[in-house]
Amino acid sequence: MAESRCNNSTSAAIDSSVEYARGAFKKVYKGKYTEGSRTGQPCVSKVFISGSVFENSYFQHEMDVVKKATEIVRAFNGLELINKRIVINQPEIWVFRDSQALTLIEPLIENFEKFNSNSGWTQDTTSWGQAMQALAHYSFHYSNGQLTLCDLQGGVYSDGIVLTDPVVMSTDRRFGPTDLGKDGIDSFFHHHVCNNFCRSSWTRPSRRMGLFPVVKGTTMMEVKTQTGRNLLTQRF
Ligand SMILES: [Zn+2]
Repeated sequence: MAESRCNNSTSAAIDSSVEYARGAFKKVYKGKYTEGSRTGQPCVSKVFISGSVFENSYFQHEMDVVKKATEIVRAFNGLELINKRIVINQPEIWVFRDSQALTLIEPLIENFEKFNSNSGWTQDTTSWGQAMQALAHYSFHYSNGQLTLCDLQGGVYSDGIVLTDPVVMSTDRRFGPTDLGKDGIDSFFHHHVCNNFCRSSWTRPSRRMGLFPVVKGTTMMEVKTQTGRNLLTQRF
């Protein structure tokens, strides 16, 4: 698909000795494809930090978010508001041969930058920054007010932009720990300023208020512990 940037490979060598980046619950390592049409090209390997409370659902949430983001980007590209392509990196779940641990593999993105966050931080001083704010606004309109695609980040190339690690916020909070729900959507639009790429016909939430501290990083929902329950390790 035109909106997808894929591994086109089944094998890579990952350098797990050096962390390339780290998020709140994942680590990123660099590597190179060793098979397929991308042989020799750089890739990244994302692994969840051991013991993370998100461990079990992490991969599935990532795949669900990317699938929904790709659908929204396809619709946005179809509007032809900009004359360059927006594509989304498509991660795949691969297995390390030695440890059998799972990892997400996707092509490396050059010239990485961030354009907005799920708490409403925005970079709209460049054309791409403005186009990304418009994409976020459009996602709400496209989904009939059910979703907002944000945390838009990636790399600008001569003929377009490649995005990775997006966040989808939903009214029913179905896209994992970075989905801040309706409060997140209303908060995002409290800070959104329409630009030349936005269309006046696009809908916005009727309630708009800042409910989260605005930060460039990705905000996650606190996971509530169930204090009434026994610990797994508790002895009787
Ligand atoms: Zn707008």
